[in-house]
Parts: sequence; structure tokens; C-alpha cells
Amino acid sequence: MSTIFSKIIRGEIPCHRIYEDEFVLAFLDIFPLSPGHTLVIPKEEVARVDQLSDEAAAALGRVLPRICRAVSAVSGTEDYNILQNNGAAAHQAVFHVHFHIIPKPDAERGLGIDWPSGKLNEEGAAQLASRLREALGSS
Ligand code: AMP
Repeated sequence: MSTIFSKIIRGEIPCHRIYEDEFVLAFLDIFPLSPGHTLVIPKEEVARVDQLSDEAAAALGRVLPRICRAVSAVSGTEDYNILQNNGAAAHQAVFHVHFHIIPKPDAERGLGIDWPSGKLNEEGAAQLASRLREALGSS
């Protein structure tokens, strides 16, 4: 799997880089939803979070809060969303794992969210939680 983000990692196309280490690169999104909109990506070439190695996942987890603090401080916006899409139906356009950090300065700018929530059914929830525990045990 190779995407435009692999080319950015290799330096074949430019980006506005804000952070880099052995496992992670962060740069400004070319079509920002608000000033400071940043993408944080693993150097590992996988499309979805569930495909990440433990090493790449740990490296992302270690630096995400630090990058969020910088984005918050420099954008002057305390509130922000972290968005992470997996699969075309979930609005993923670039099939290389990435975390969006999107400052939310006000109601108009930043990420807009449609949240059509249901209500958890007690019996169904118990079954579902049990199946998920089982799946986690075998993963
Ligand atoms: P997603 O829908 O989660 O896959 O989002 C992909 C994001 O990558 C979009 O927000 C794009 O604006 C961004 N993007 C695509 N190409 C580039 C690029 N060359 N440099 C920076 N951001 C990019």
C-alpha cells in the first residue's frame, strides 16, 4: 500500500512539517477545517488503525498529546477534535492511517458533527459487551 502520505514521508512531495521522529510525522492539512488543522501519521504504511503494529501505535500515542498541546497553544484555541477515519464509508480518503487534530475556535469553524445517537438496550448491551470481551481475549 502506498499513498500520497508515503511520498510525503520520503520527502518526494512537500509538506509543512511540524514534528518528526523515527516512527511518526506530523504536518499541516492542506485543506484545513480551521487554522492549525494538523495530521499525525505513522511512518508504517498501513491503511487502518486496526492494522498498526504495537510499536507504531505506541509511538503515535506517546506524541499525540504533545502535538495537541502545541496546536492548541499556537492556534490560541483550547478546544479541538481528534478525528480518525477508517475505510471509505467512514470518510477515509487517504488510505494511510492518520489522526486529524482540528482546533474548534467557534461553532462555525472546525469539525461539524452529526451525532444521530440511539439508546443502549440493556439486554443487547450485555450480550454485545460479552462478545467484545471475547473478541479482545482472542485478538
Ligand atoms: P481523510 O478523509 O481522513 O482520509 O482525510 C485526508 C486528509 O488528508 C484531508 O483532510 C486532506 O485535506 C489531507 N491531505 C491530502 N493530501 C494532502 C497533502 N498533500 N498535504 C496535506 N494534507 C493532505
